Amino acid sequence: MSCNKKVRVRFAPSPTGPLHMGGVRTALYNYLFARQRGGDFILRIEDTDSHRFVPGAEAYIMEALKWCGITIDEGISEGGPHAPYRQSERKEIYLKYALQLVESGNAYYAFDTPEELNAIRAEAEAAGNTFAYNYEVRGKLATSLALPPDEVQRRIERGDQWVIRFRMPENEEVEMHDLIRGDVVVNTSTLDDKVLYKSADSLPTYHLANIVDDHLMEITHVIRGEEWLPSLPLHYLLYRAFGWSETQPDFAHLPLLLKPTGGGKLSKRDGDKMGFPVFPLRWVSPQGEVSHGYREDGYFPEAFINMLALLGWNPGTEQELFTIDELIAAFSLERVSKSGARFNPEKARWFNAQYLKQKSDAELAALFRPVLNEKGIEASDGKVEQVMGLMKERATFVSELWELTSFLFVAPDDYDPKAAAKFWKGDNPARIRGLRDLLATVTDFGKENTEKSVMEWIAANEYPTGQVMNAFRLAIIGKSTGPSMFEVCEILGRDETLRRLDAILTKLGTGENA
Ligand code: GLU
Repeated sequence: MSCNKKVRVRFAPSPTGPLHMGGVRTALYNYLFARQRGGDFILRIEDTDSHRFVPGAEAYIMEALKWCGITIDEGISEGGPHAPYRQSERKEIYLKYALQLVESGNAYYAFDTPEELNAIRAEAEAAGNTFAYNYEVRGKLATSLALPPDEVQRRIERGDQWVIRFRMPENEEVEMHDLIRGDVVVNTSTLDDKVLYKSADSLPTYHLANIVDDHLMEITHVIRGEEWLPSLPLHYLLYRAFGWSETQPDFAHLPLLLKPTGGGKLSKRDGDKMGFPVFPLRWVSPQGEVSHGYREDGYFPEAFINMLALLGWNPGTEQELFTIDELIAAFSLERVSKSGARFNPEKARWFNAQYLKQKSDAELAALFRPVLNEKGIEASDGKVEQVMGLMKERATFVSELWELTSFLFVAPDDYDPKAAAKFWKGDNPARIRGLRDLLATVTDFGKENTEKSVMEWIAANEYPTGQVMNAFRLAIIGKSTGPSMFEVCEILGRDETLRRLDAILTKLGTGENA
């Protein structure tokens, strides 16, 4: 169908709220596909449902894509040969196409008011049936199929409200192909006659606008969420009715993102309950309700994208860490799974930790510098980089780094009482005084050299190593955990190390036996 044409894909969100991470994944797969094929990635805003419009949602979508590094070739801000890309600004285009379908017998006017439809629905329900606007009823209701042509004309001219509905064929097998799911067949008698256009607001519905725009914008591949699969027969039939089947795009419907527990679609509520974001960016609803975002929670966009890429697609190898360029090279729709992809918040954190570790010490130092500034701490770039190098293995988020590294910038002002009771007793205070005197004579404070000096001194005095090292750690860090003491002392330098040893001797005294 679209083999020789330049690939053109679109991400077509409706601005009805913040973009869910499932929506970001749809955008990402479209983007990867386009970039791999040297094609175009188009952002089209589908805002024809004015009742569901949420202010701020469109700006949110744009910012989220930008944060993720998903660049747009044609769109509402970028413009392009098929502008405008916001459907509400394309209003004038659609009526003509709706009328063309009426003309060709593929669609018809329906004049039922919402009240009348509600009454028919209620009646059907009372009789234990569900009402569907379909081939069985369209000839009996207030439609251009049932009413005489002059009556139809009269109602339109009078200004009665009408809609145009698609005339779904009766009992026809629609054979469709999905690039992920393979062949799909649906009998049209199970489908209803969807509204395509409404006179009330002079706007098309999703189905009409979507097909017309995909056609006009020369979209070659429609990659979208599984929730649109039930609309596929209608879309196939619309292409046929317009005479566009030859150039209709290929379709791929992506699997759902499932809850961490596996059952059901991943929702905002799961995130609230389990403490993970389901939105790329923080969102404050018009009612003031706040939802967490990956960005504000401290995730790197690269980590978020990497994690998302693997939710529903697999490379067929064990590789888990991918740069965006590697994703572009490796992605394929054939390796997108048919079944839902279970979201694992732990894995999201794991990805972030990997990306944090991968950052150079200088990059991390730059990210951490604002925290130091905020605390009024001055430290050389060299020192901050050394600290990052020592501690980055232990962190998942930049926001955790202060907690992990503060002892390298600020001397402890008190000592963990449990550790102090355990290690600041017996001969240890005197040993620490001895250690202080030893270190005062050491000029090379590199970790190898201090380790060698201290270990030789411990051995020469036949001190118990564990006792001395734990008391040393208490003095320098204030507690009994942390990285290697010699690495710590290398970063602190001799003056600060001696200051901390003096401080503990002053604050905790020289101990009962000293
Ligand atoms: N506007 C639809 C949505 O919000 C687009 C579906 C499609 O890609 O066809 O998901």
